Amino acid sequence: MKNKKITRKITQGMYVLTTKNGGCIVDAVSQISAGDNPLIAVSVMKKNYTNELLKDNEKFALSVLDMDVNPEIIKTFGFNSMRDINKFENVETTIVDDVNIIDNSLGYMILEKIDSIDNDTHTLFIGRLIEADMFEDKEPMSYGYYQEHKEELLKVTTEKSKTAWVCTICGYIYYGDELPEDFTCPICGVGRNLFKKQG
Ligand code: FE
Repeated sequence: MKNKKITRKITQGMYVLTTKNGGCIVDAVSQISAGDNPLIAVSVMKKNYTNELLKDNEKFALSVLDMDVNPEIIKTFGFNSMRDINKFENVETTIVDDVNIIDNSLGYMILEKIDSIDNDTHTLFIGRLIEADMFEDKEPMSYGYYQEHKEELLKVTTEKSKTAWVCTICGYIYYGDELPEDFTCPICGVGRNLFKKQG
């Protein structure tokens, strides 16, 4: 492929997908039908714990992140797993229709799951919009913008005394002099070749 970065010009956004007992950051969201209750599709990594939850849960929400998003929201929902931490303790949420939605967002969409399609790495979940609200009418953050600015946005700070390896895809930090031979990122799954040494 000559330059796959052109795919970043597909205008994807930054959303927090939440469902009962979990949630994660997603970028690939599309409205795929019209009407009062349109269908919305969202792609979720299979490795992700939220993907497992969505197999059983019938409802999920998308909260739209904006340009002034609190980076803690991205860190909490992007670089951690509910297997390890309770994300809802780190970020302020409100329960709407039994789903936690993110307070510090532009608004939310509540979706009732109607279908899902598995592919190599992701599952495409399709939901019907049953509730929605907008808190603020501001510009949403695009996924392309996030990719270009994530280092400054997240101000990836590593502990000075230790050697750190930062995942260039998701920002996960591994501490240690060397990355293990068969290391893959526990969050986004990429190999060690996509880690950058710091310090
Ligand atoms: Fe990663």
